[in-house]
Amino acid sequence: TILTPNSPTAELQALDAAHHMHPFTHGAGLGEKGARIITRAEGCWLNDSDGNRILDAMAGLWCVNIGYGREELAEAAARQMRELPFYNTFFQTSHVPAINLAARLAELAPGDLNHVFFANSGSEANDTNLRMVRTYWQEKGQPQRQHVISRWNGYHGSSVGSGSLGGMKGMHAQGGMPIPGIHHIDQPYWYLEGGNMSEDDFGLARAQLLEEKILELGADNVAAFIAEPIQGAGGVIVPPATYWPEIQRIVDKYGILLIADEVICGFGRTGEWFGSQTMNIRPDIMTVAKGLSSGYQPIGASIVSDGVAKVIDGVEFNHGYTYSGHPVACAVALENLRLLDEEGIVTRARDETGPYLKAQFETLTDHPLVGEAKIVGHMGSIALTPDKASRARFAGEAGTAGFITRERCFANNLIMRHVGDRMIISPPLVISKEEIDTLIERARRSLDEAH
Ligand code: PLP
Repeated sequence: TILTPNSPTAELQALDAAHHMHPFTHGAGLGEKGARIITRAEGCWLNDSDGNRILDAMAGLWCVNIGYGREELAEAAARQMRELPFYNTFFQTSHVPAINLAARLAELAPGDLNHVFFANSGSEANDTNLRMVRTYWQEKGQPQRQHVISRWNGYHGSSVGSGSLGGMKGMHAQGGMPIPGIHHIDQPYWYLEGGNMSEDDFGLARAQLLEEKILELGADNVAAFIAEPIQGAGGVIVPPATYWPEIQRIVDKYGILLIADEVICGFGRTGEWFGSQTMNIRPDIMTVAKGLSSGYQPIGASIVSDGVAKVIDGVEFNHGYTYSGHPVACAVALENLRLLDEEGIVTRARDETGPYLKAQFETLTDHPLVGEAKIVGHMGSIALTPDKASRARFAGEAGTAGFITRERCFANNLIMRHVGDRMIISPPLVISKEEIDTLIERARRSLDEAH
């Protein structure tokens, strides 16, 4: 049977349940009500197989920065498929889309991040980074520098390497992660973990955990520190202002490579092209994916400094994916970057819709359930609490309040995610002020219903 977007929902759900294993999903739980089947999308709006129109405040999975339904991207894919649907870039060959995209990324990326190693996802790009930084130190004559430090509740992907870099305990509990040589320090999550400290003091203290870990491992044994400029999947946790300057000071002091995982933060999400610019840090490598193609094609990349690239280019780096620099994905990403730039989408998001979204989103703090609202650019979250003064968590299973609110949002045709008791938004950068009003109105209604 080949079903279509117009097939009855029950048939689509039944076949889905019979054969399709969903990521990060409790299959049995889904079985009772079935998956919601998304059939089409335009701008910031999804259609489901029951004819509902849903406001997608998550841009898919933090991906669709440019919004759904851009013909130009479909055209770019079709054109490239006709011209050269595939060729690899392994064995002394290259092709036009990969050349152009690498050059464009070098132009957009800050500092001397001028070299691009392609992958198909954020996970794969972070696996590349893990091997690349270890190879770098090996070739630099410091082969003992193999330890990599990251953070609890950071997210860097779902492969064994990138999942080990991530600090998701639920993931570590399954399938043999983390692999050796990866060490996690606590996150700069003031609201939940800051106790009586000021945000600034807490930010400094959490950054200094990096120095402690470096000294514990031996400064000469550490290859790199990896972190998201703003944690996304962990709950959109905006670090205190003191955090990143201190991290930068520490990595500089010990000569440790800094990997900024920009998979969510990149391509306008935080207001600038990259979260590293918003946070004023100088990474040696940036991981990108998601917004690179606005999710229209699977593609990721490591954007690498002159210094690191020089060393890696000096050896045969035995690493790569069949689809590294896939021509169709590169062509689509290139067109996506052209539109984000030429239509002023990134600058409009920074200067117009970003400030408006922030102002509206922060009004949610007057809701009895909401302890704080944090937002940078087009990524934000609210904390749900039974007691604003103590910043307490809801009793019972963590995330219950978030789960209920998420279900209410779902019923009100608004996609917001929950992580524990935080509710997240990450809308397309093209969201209009009117759509922002709709987002806030539906979020408020859902909170009321959950209260
Ligand atoms: N890094 C970050 C910061 C992410 O948010 C994600 C995905 O959400 C990844 C890496 C993994 O990317 P992918 O799912 O494309 O493998």
